[in-house]
Amino acid sequence: MKKETKCIQAGYAPKNGEPRMIPIIQSTTYKYDTSEAMGKLFDLEESGYFYTRLQNPTNDYVAAKICALEGGSAAMLTSSGQAASFFSVFNICGTLDHVVASSAIYGGTYNLFNVTMRRMGIDFTFVDPDCTEEELNAAFKPNTKAVFGETIANPALTVLDIEKFAAAAHAHGVPLIVDNTFATPINCRPIEWGADIVTHSTTKYMDGHDAAVGGCIVDSGKFDWFAHADKFPGLTTPDESYHGVTYAEKFGLEGAYITKATAQLMRDLGAIQAPMNAYLLNLGLESLHVRMPRHCENALAVAEYLEKHEKVEWVNYPGLPSNKYYETAKKYMPDGTCGVVSFGVKGGRKAAEKFMKGLKVAMIATHVADAHTCVLHPASATHRQMNDEELKAAGVSPDLVRLSVGIENVNDIIEDLENALKEC
Ligand SMILES: *Cc1c(COP(=O)(O)O)cnc(C)c1O
Repeated sequence: MKKETKCIQAGYAPKNGEPRMIPIIQSTTYKYDTSEAMGKLFDLEESGYFYTRLQNPTNDYVAAKICALEGGSAAMLTSSGQAASFFSVFNICGTLDHVVASSAIYGGTYNLFNVTMRRMGIDFTFVDPDCTEEELNAAFKPNTKAVFGETIANPALTVLDIEKFAAAAHAHGVPLIVDNTFATPINCRPIEWGADIVTHSTTKYMDGHDAAVGGCIVDSGKFDWFAHADKFPGLTTPDESYHGVTYAEKFGLEGAYITKATAQLMRDLGAIQAPMNAYLLNLGLESLHVRMPRHCENALAVAEYLEKHEKVEWVNYPGLPSNKYYETAKKYMPDGTCGVVSFGVKGGRKAAEKFMKGLKVAMIATHVADAHTCVLHPASATHRQMNDEELKAAGVSPDLVRLSVGIENVNDIIEDLENALKEC
């Protein structure tokens, strides 16, 4: 199946007389005829459902669709993108381990790594995504267990050289984890470029309608845990909490990573996505292949308009030929990047505030990456407690406006920007 067909049909194939649409299995528990039958599930001898804190059929249908879109071997949904990022790393790292991460990542992920996971005793080295191979290799330590980056970083809009990061990760015997939220598998499939594990905040384009928070983890099934068995004892030695099962042996390279994350992390931490949310996510996925090209087309038109505007100081959009990442983006995302554009209004913080007041079509929201055009001026909203100096240190210029271009008529969006720019 091509990606457009996968968006509609992958993951769920109803049999004779069954519901056409993925059913919402709104049930916490599942009934078994005998204790023995249930016992086999607890021993991981047979696959099946026993409690929705670990697994739910609705979620699994939707995860299977995303898995097909990414070209993976197994996948799971999580309650949020944050949970997906956390599980993806914590599934193979523990206290005294180390992770190499791109410094251009989502702020929530940066906090998760740099504050919360450090408190768990996991060490992180953040590298400039544009670093040389030498600099990247120098970041590894004997206890490094994973490398993490974002295809298109939110909000910096840097584009990850996936092949460069995959080569460094593999040379050091560890997997590359890529957060593919902004590109979506419609525009980029990181596994094809060497990524081993892909994560998503499905809250963004995949859901696409501001309806449901969620996340997803996809495993490529390609990373050879046994070739680096000493680094990944959690996958290559018996799990006493599951009667001595060795995940990589019993479930193969294709199934080990996701089975372990489900059996251990979901069981113990319980960050399952509600089946109702998975159903809503699936509705979004069905039109993802139609929406992404429109997001990119609209964003490019908006970026080109802004670049020519006399009241605009700078524009950052990886689809613009003038952008630093244009060539990298063309390589990894030949059909387009994403709908998010950032730019600076001449006159700094004051002018940006006036600009925001003049908008009518673009809605002020902290959210990004969905059907509605929305806009944020961090200096007067999320980062308002900071002065100009502090903002600069945080990598957010006082004039920065982040515009998430939706799928409305682009002329309405541009007219809105034109009217608001007149105000400043
Ligand atoms: C939003 C976002 C997340 C976090 O996802 P939530 O669903 O909000 O928990 C992670 N990565 C990226 C790139 C994001 O944009």
